[in-house]
Amino acid sequence: MQIDTSIDHHVHTRLCHHGIGEMEEYVLAAIDCGLSTLQFLEHMEAQVSYFESTWLTDDDFSYYFKESCRLKEKYGHKISIKLGAEVGFNPAAEHILLSRIATFPFDAIGISCHFIKHRTSQYDLNLFSRKEQNKAAIETAGRNEILTAYFSRLIKAVDTLPGTMVCHLDAALRHLPELTLNGCHRQLIDTLLKKIAEKEMMLEVNTSGLAIRSEPFPAPWIIKKALQYGIKLAASSDAHKPSDVGRYFDQLPSYIDGCILS
Ligand SMILES: [Zn+2]
Ligand SMILES: [Zn+2]
Repeated sequence: MQIDTSIDHHVHTRLCHHGIGEMEEYVLAAIDCGLSTLQFLEHMEAQVSYFESTWLTDDDFSYYFKESCRLKEKYGHKISIKLGAEVGFNPAAEHILLSRIATFPFDAIGISCHFIKHRTSQYDLNLFSRKEQNKAAIETAGRNEILTAYFSRLIKAVDTLPGTMVCHLDAALRHLPELTLNGCHRQLIDTLLKKIAEKEMMLEVNTSGLAIRSEPFPAPWIIKKALQYGIKLAASSDAHKPSDVGRYFDQLPSYIDGCILS
């Protein structure tokens, strides 16, 4: 078995403002689908210039930990509850992120990069948004240039942050039509995977991709390479509503077997 589907490594809640449902509802959903462990992985960002907040403040994180104590007390005999942060790496705010990470007793640090500053755009580009204005801003900046910046930034993030897992590796710009990776992007992904292996981080297999592009993130060739490099895989739903917890996990073992054979 290449992946443990009894753990969901990545769920959000209403606290990030683009998800719905209380933490307790996610715990109940996880118990319902028979998971052994539920890991919250809420959004942390620093010094992002954007027209709305899609992340938690430190007060929100304080609530997150306080509420988790209550939930562990109430449901701990049924399920193990872990608390992590999905940290959007911003090299300009490296020290702020490191100190915020150190402020809280996180069980896991997911590495991602949702926002990139670009001279052509008033706001930082949101690489994961389906909003038309964000997609247009990325096309203006140049999709290939932005993807190169994205993968380069993940490499730097793996070097800099105390990460335990890299999130939805090839999901940036996923809402742009006919997205393809060029040779430069593929090379950066190879470098990134080698670094993930060296740092003994996990690579997330994110089933939100099944809903968006009919296969999980990342693509099969990346999963195959990751396994060749000895990287452990983490099952993640990236749920932003309670009913998404553990979604499609039953398909993952055979899917990953297929990646190995591809
Ligand atoms: Zn989110
Ligand atoms: Zn994310």
